[in-house]
Amino acid sequence: MSDSKKNELKALREKLCFKPKNAFDGNYDISGANDFCEEYKNFLNTGKTERLCVKEAIRIAKSCGFVPYVRGMSLKRGDKIYRNNRNKALVLAVIGSEELSRGVNIAAAHIDAPRIDLKQMPLYESEGLALFKTHYYGGIKKYQWPAIPLELRGVVALKNGEVREISCGDEPGDPVFVITDLLPHLGRDQMAKKAGEFIPGEGLNVLCGSSPVDGAEKEDKETVKLNVLRILNEKYGITEEDFLSAELSVVPAFPARDIGFDRSLIGAYGHDDRVCAYPSLRALLDVKSTNKTALCILADKEEIGSEGVSGMKSRFFDTFVEDICEHFGATLRECFENSTCLSTDVTVAMDPNFPEVCEKQNSAFLNRGVTLCKYTGSRGKSGSNDASAELIGRLRALFDDNNILWQMGDLGKVDQGGGGTVAMYMAERDIETIDAGVPVLSMHAPFETVAKNDVYMTYLAISAFFEKY
Ligand code: MN
Ligand code: MN
Repeated sequence: MSDSKKNELKALREKLCFKPKNAFDGNYDISGANDFCEEYKNFLNTGKTERLCVKEAIRIAKSCGFVPYVRGMSLKRGDKIYRNNRNKALVLAVIGSEELSRGVNIAAAHIDAPRIDLKQMPLYESEGLALFKTHYYGGIKKYQWPAIPLELRGVVALKNGEVREISCGDEPGDPVFVITDLLPHLGRDQMAKKAGEFIPGEGLNVLCGSSPVDGAEKEDKETVKLNVLRILNEKYGITEEDFLSAELSVVPAFPARDIGFDRSLIGAYGHDDRVCAYPSLRALLDVKSTNKTALCILADKEEIGSEGVSGMKSRFFDTFVEDICEHFGATLRECFENSTCLSTDVTVAMDPNFPEVCEKQNSAFLNRGVTLCKYTGSRGKSGSNDASAELIGRLRALFDDNNILWQMGDLGKVDQGGGGTVAMYMAERDIETIDAGVPVLSMHAPFETVAKNDVYMTYLAISAFFEKY
């Protein structure tokens, strides 16, 4: 082939073929990624449950001038408000200069994460040990949870209306808890089982004590359990019956850490979906000026199907937006039909340990930026939002014009499995919606991994969406 022909082909290829982009190409400003991720790690370490995320988000929002919205209060353009949904979910808004009837821009993330919940009557004693019975929350691989340090978090609601916050294992020097596993020496039967059956659901009992109460006699029964109750009573003023009106969980008792010699990654519990919740929150708090009203949702219950009063199926969100609309003389239906939502949730990243579950050409990769997912679902896109080509076209332009690194990613190979997010529940409201978020390794494991550049690009993408879409 002649040199000129070669050059011609090269030019044709450059003009027509798609080339994946990477954060390290030198074409993207990633200088802010580290500082942003330090803030994010603090948020993770503080927000180990949805309640703690709400508390921390409100604390940060208040410091940025946000005030709680009360129905009927006067509102004007530029106001920054939030509404707390029963301490478990949160919605925040910056009122834009445009009419509400022209629609709003929404970033919807969730702040609940897979975990182990205590049952309502959890404490028992067996073989001289005190344990908590549990019921796991969300899609976990049960075998990943034994033999790691766990901390206890949650609340106990007393009959007098008081709510006691329980927290043990998060402070340095605190004791932690553990679910025991079988030694390999005696694991012959266990190892022959399928992975889903290694640890039965009723086998996730949490070890929480082994010493009997002071003054116990040999013939006394359940003295170790009694000792745990004594300590709980001393520390929190609660009795065994108070467990009946409690929400207690155990979650991994280790902080977020940098991963790799180059510190380019973050390992932590709860990236799904706090790794999108924090950039969504931060992007809203940092909005300088916006035509469209901007909203950030931090939802609960996504991991169990968005049910419940604090989940995305709840009318809480509609009521909040309707209240604002009413104030400015717009109708909710008009507002919703002109609105756009980024369902900011994580997606799978190509994992060199498990390349067989992803189809390379359509998979998200670490360090290739915020990931748009046109559809999730399973078995022929069933249960998926399937965003429109037009919406993706507009977002392509938005991200490219603002030099934001983004990629398209499928949730695994066709018929390999699947999943869902809050996207379909937003779309049901007549809101144009697409999934956008951070690609994750080891999703739903007690220690998940993300790339710092992707976290930062997700923040920049949501910022551009709020201010320029
Ligand atoms: Mn998620
Ligand atoms: Mn999830």
